[in-house]
Amino acid sequence: MAKPDRPRIVIIGAGFGGLYAARTLAKQPVDVLLIDRRNFHTFTPLLYQVATCGLDPSEIAYPVRTIFRDVSNVRFMLGEVTSLDATDQIIEVQSDGATYRESYDYLILATGSVTNYFGMADLESNSFGLKDLSDAVVLRNHLLKQFERAAWSHDPAYRDALTTIVIVGGGPTGLETAGALCELYNYVLHKEYRDHTFAVRVILIEASDRLLAPYPESLQKAAVTQLESLGVEVMLESVIDHVTGEGAYLRDGRFIPTRTLVWAAGVKASPIGDLLGVPLGRAGRVPVEQTLEAIGHERIYVVGDLAYLENERGEPYPMLIPVAKQQGVLAAQNIMWRIQGEAQKSFHYTDRGLMATIGRRRAVAWLYYRVQLQGFMAWATWLSAHLVWLLGFRNRFSVFFSWVWNYLTYDRSVRIILEHRGLGDPAQGNEMSTTGLTTVD
Ligand SMILES: Cc1cc2nc3c(=O)[nH]c(=O)nc-3n(C[C@H](O)[C@H](O)[C@H](O)COP(=O)(O)OP(=O)(O)OC[C@H]3O[C@@H](n4cnc5c(N)ncnc54)[C@H](O)[C@@H]3O)c2cc1C
Repeated sequence: MAKPDRPRIVIIGAGFGGLYAARTLAKQPVDVLLIDRRNFHTFTPLLYQVATCGLDPSEIAYPVRTIFRDVSNVRFMLGEVTSLDATDQIIEVQSDGATYRESYDYLILATGSVTNYFGMADLESNSFGLKDLSDAVVLRNHLLKQFERAAWSHDPAYRDALTTIVIVGGGPTGLETAGALCELYNYVLHKEYRDHTFAVRVILIEASDRLLAPYPESLQKAAVTQLESLGVEVMLESVIDHVTGEGAYLRDGRFIPTRTLVWAAGVKASPIGDLLGVPLGRAGRVPVEQTLEAIGHERIYVVGDLAYLENERGEPYPMLIPVAKQQGVLAAQNIMWRIQGEAQKSFHYTDRGLMATIGRRRAVAWLYYRVQLQGFMAWATWLSAHLVWLLGFRNRFSVFFSWVWNYLTYDRSVRIILEHRGLGDPAQGNEMSTTGLTTVD
């Protein structure tokens, strides 16, 4: 039973930052309330494998209550935080139709980021995001349905549009998704739709003149070569102008007929930052002190994608998992040091480098910003690291088994079209094939 005289720390968000903050506070003399609108933690680096039929959703998600099953001072609440009163130190949570008001002594905001459509309403309603597990399942359902439709269409132009997949964004998510989609077709769908000759195109569009912007040039070039060897069409210096239900228009006048555009070209901070009433930094991130307290709100700490903090070179810390984890730990430690009357510490990032996988035996890795790997070695490193980082033995074992199975059999067994209201069947406007369906056959 919670003792009322203990400091109460509320953490909003059970992603990487929030989870590591809560773990650091576990078994400490404080009461912790961890709130998330989902009852599970998502391992985002493998979302694209769910979307491309390689993994089952449950293999990359872990129930929050299970994580803290044996921790008596951490409680979990399923709900969406919608308002924040920093003067009275109260937050409001909407949960299953009810509203709860929860007080805090210290607050940790770890609500991450959302897809950034840069104000383009046509893009938002005619594209697929890949930000959470629901997005991945919606995209998987949609992709599989396009092939089912294509199989029975007698209109070649419509059929080609159904089997043309455009991914926008030359960062790791764009690359990984493009590579995995080509493999899904080359190794699996190609054999199963054997009576049909599809002109499948997977197009990766990037506005700048290179993929993987922060990587060295040799790895950027290696990424393009590896993608092209799989069949991905890489279009650099190409900018989306607008998107309709029929396809994507580029700024240079080109038009790509497609019913599937995956938008992986931008994120911005979660809108919860607006509730603080302070001027926000780039991408809507909340400016924080080196100790991770929000500027102007000394009892509120902000971590992960939501926090805006610059490194010694004056660059903002990237929106990456290691940043979120390390900030989550430090915010929790700083709160404990404050409670104990000790000095707080500044954030120092331990950066181990960057990795992106492109497909079977294809990847690039830049370890400790010194060692450059590509091909099989980078791929093996990526696989091992992600297995270690996954939460829970069952998930690790299951993902390892799925990978071995997929590798040996060239199969992708998670190819069920699973629809239920509000999840598997995107809003009509979001399903780019709707318009075309009425005109075929
Ligand atoms: C497809 C994809 C692939 C990625 N791959 C990599 C990778 O390979 N390596 C890497 O380092 N980074 C990767 N990232 C980035 C990484 O996921 C983020 O940097 C990291 O998750 C940030 O952690 P966070 O704690 O700030 O937010 P998150 O992990 O996003 O957690 C935010 C949590 O807050 C909850 N939440 C949000 N708003 C509310 C609210 N109002 N009320 C209650 N709960 C709320 C959400 O449900 C979520 O659980 C990837 C991201 C994506 C989308």
